[in-house]
Amino acid sequence: MGTIYYYEMNSAAIVARMNVTSARQNTKPQGLSRCPHACALAAALLMAGCATGPGPTTKAQQQAITPAQARAKLEAGNARFFTGDTLHRDWRRQLKATAGGQYPFAVVLSCIDSRVPDEIIFDQGLGDIFTVRVAGNVLDDEILGSMEFACKMAGAKLIFVLGHTRCGAIKGACGGAQLGHLTCLLDRIKPSVAAAKEKLPGVPATDEPFAEEVAELNVQSVKKGIREQSPVLRDLIDSGQVGLDTGIYDLKSGKVRFFNH
Ligand SMILES: [Zn+2]
Repeated sequence: MGTIYYYEMNSAAIVARMNVTSARQNTKPQGLSRCPHACALAAALLMAGCATGPGPTTKAQQQAITPAQARAKLEAGNARFFTGDTLHRDWRRQLKATAGGQYPFAVVLSCIDSRVPDEIIFDQGLGDIFTVRVAGNVLDDEILGSMEFACKMAGAKLIFVLGHTRCGAIKGACGGAQLGHLTCLLDRIKPSVAAAKEKLPGVPATDEPFAEEVAELNVQSVKKGIREQSPVLRDLIDSGQVGLDTGIYDLKSGKVRFFNH
């Protein structure tokens, strides 16, 4: 199968997909390429600039999107990622389009783990999401300030707290690791370690299922902390202007498990 072009129209994610099958390959045509007018349509889309892929989130799109739609965009983007169906993007075009301003629809708090790059696993481009990354996706004043800027000042409609499986910071907290400033950071995860010990009595803290439980408890604890520690964000959330959701990214499958609590 040859080049795949995508055209995403606004946040409703209306995607026209075209599989252009190389004549040199002995494979059956798929999708729109079965249409006898596929070549003409491809040419028309190319002339219209559609083959350059989706543009960055615009001001109008950011203003129109609801918190639920923002979550749906992250879910759809992650589904594209783990199925290997990510959108084609013209990065130079995105660069030009975002130089004058940004209108991200969400802010994602996640771990620094090199295997969890938010823009990639949610299949987003320049100007689409704010990302805040810290080991163990913990919360502190600077991170809360970043989220307040993202939502109150810059108009993001969703706060998403993302933990992940096999997290080194979570394992460090479970094992009582101590090292310089890291000790203070891991202390923020300790209440979730204590809660996991109550929930899973007898399970060694070094076991993987125990660490996975701590990762899940930690994102829920951070979610609670955001509401409790930031009156600015609490007001936005309680008034329905901003959503607050959590999830866990699976390093093996590439899937984000989105929680409903
Ligand atoms: Zn991690």
